[in-house]
Amino acid sequence: MISRPSVHSPDGEVAVDERSRKREDDWFLQNEKKLLEEARKAREKREAERRARETEEQRGKLKQLHWMKCPKCGHDLKTEALEGVDIDRCTFCEGFFVDAGELEVLFLKKGVGQRQSFMRRLLGI
Ligand SMILES: [Zn+2]
Repeated sequence: MISRPSVHSPDGEVAVDERSRKREDDWFLQNEKKLLEEARKAREKREAERRARETEEQRGKLKQLHWMKCPKCGHDLKTEALEGVDIDRCTFCEGFFVDAGELEVLFLKKGVGQRQSFMRRLLGI
C-alpha cells in the first residue's frame, strides 16, 4: 500500500504535498506503461497461437462473413475517428468496438482529465 504524505492546514483540511504527488504520479505513469506493454506482448502471443491453429483460408472465410458487422445485432459498423482512436460503432444499436491495442494507445497518451473527456465523447454525454 502506498501512503501519501500530507500536510494539515490551519483550517483542518488535509493538503497533499505537491512534490510527493508528482513522484507518485510519475511512479504510476512508469508502471502503467510497463503493465500495458506486458499486456500487449501477452495479447500478441495469444494471437500468434490462435493463428497457428487456423489456415489462411479459414480466416478469410470468417472475415468475409463478419467484417464490419456488429457482434450483437449484425448491422453494419461505421468507423469514427475519436481523438486519434478509431472506434467502430454500430449503425443500429450504437454499441462500439475498438481494435486490440487502441485503448492502450489512448491510456498512454492521455491524462486523467483527457480520458474522462474522451469517455464522455464516446458515450455522447
Ligand atoms: Zn449493433
